[in-house]
Amino acid sequence: MTVNRQAAAYPAWFFLAASEEERLMALTFDDGPVGDHTAQLLDIIGAEQVRATFFVLGNQVQDYPELVQRIVDEDHELGNHSWSHADLRSLSNEEILKEELIPTNERIWEAVGLTPPIMRPPYGALRDDSIEFLGEAGWLMINWSIDSFDWDSSQNSAEEIAGKVLTCSHPGVIVLMHSGEHLNGTVSALPQIIRALRAGRYEFVTISELLSLD
Ligand SMILES: [Zn+2]
Repeated sequence: MTVNRQAAAYPAWFFLAASEEERLMALTFDDGPVGDHTAQLLDIIGAEQVRATFFVLGNQVQDYPELVQRIVDEDHELGNHSWSHADLRSLSNEEILKEELIPTNERIWEAVGLTPPIMRPPYGALRDDSIEFLGEAGWLMINWSIDSFDWDSSQNSAEEIAGKVLTCSHPGVIVLMHSGEHLNGTVSALPQIIRALRAGRYEFVTISELLSLD
């Protein structure tokens, strides 16, 4: 797969997972913040004392700055998921920066006074030359090693989501999940996923902690 080759080719810039030396894992939630749904996710992970990472869209940050503040206040991490969820393979490198990443970080700055150095490309998709361009500009590109498929309505019941995550988990895993109005399975599956993985002695950390970025 393209992303496996890219992670091997650009180990300082493009990540699918961390090393397997420690039983750490990072839950990530893309495409928010989305009103009640992101609030529900925050309620659950807060109650379970789990820290997670939210890859947010600039046009959503604009609508829900108070949720971005809550993500930060509750000690989770923010990442940049582009402005408009464009397929970045169809944009020039300058367009990726000027139309997608920088405006999103500007909105995040206005909301919470910080700018994430981590980004996740929509669909996990970037050209090699964009990885090189963004890497040299200081961006870290964070994909995943488990897709929960919570975005896919043909297979996103709570049981199906939990089954995929629990069956495939490994130390150093980055799990892809989403915020979205209709993603009830994600909300229902989370407590079960968290408790089962904790019973398996996993510790939940942010992307920066998982990858020792600080
Ligand atoms: Zn997305």
